[in-house]
Amino acid sequence: MSTISSKQIFAWIERYAAQIAEQKDYLTQLDAAIGDADHGANMNRGLQAVLAKNADLQNADIGALLKGVAMTLISTVGGASGALYGTFFLQASTIAGNRTELSPSEFGSVLEKGLAGIVLRGKATIGDKTMVDALQPAIKAYKHSIESGETLDQALSKAASAAEEGLKSTVPLVARKGRASYLGERSAGHPDPGATSTVLLFRSAAETLG
Ligand code: ADP
Ligand code: MG
Repeated sequence: MSTISSKQIFAWIERYAAQIAEQKDYLTQLDAAIGDADHGANMNRGLQAVLAKNADLQNADIGALLKGVAMTLISTVGGASGALYGTFFLQASTIAGNRTELSPSEFGSVLEKGLAGIVLRGKATIGDKTMVDALQPAIKAYKHSIESGETLDQALSKAASAAEEGLKSTVPLVARKGRASYLGERSAGHPDPGATSTVLLFRSAAETLG
């Protein structure tokens, strides 16, 4: 059975930062349609700040690494997404603790704890047109795959596909949380920016953790 090392978790975050940098303008464009046109800039600022700390983070245990990511996002991003992704990584770090390796099923618990943090903080449920619409099905698909005895690669790939499906499901929705909710019915017909950055999180995971 394969395990996930702290080096791989670091590579995941680096890959996520690269994908956010690449898609920054697109994410901001999505936020221009239903928010305030800063999601790409917000996420990119946060993840570039994380990369700037790589000397401290790349040899840290998984808990310290995830906590470092969390604190950096919280202190540099501003905007709802900084607090929410920050909470995700902070809660995830409490499960990982001082471990330097996680089994695939332990990694599932890390993700679940992160999601629970976002839900507690943001109070969004499925169908509110937020990042939760991508995050929750992705984690559910991951856990289900691992519990059915599939490989880590299969589970990560199913998680990424489920996040993509979740993102698609946000298009017709009317936003009930966050800035987009101020638009009411006019928020329908657009993908949610945060669900889009969540797809990148799971695509990066599939590319680095398997
Ligand atoms: P802001 O809305 O403060 O400008 P961003 O533009 O960076 O912050 O992030 C917007 C994204 O944050 C939305 O697309 C949505 O996915 C997510 N979001 C906003 N509010 C919530 C919430 N209460 N729960 C979960 N996600 C949320
Ligand atoms: Mg915004």
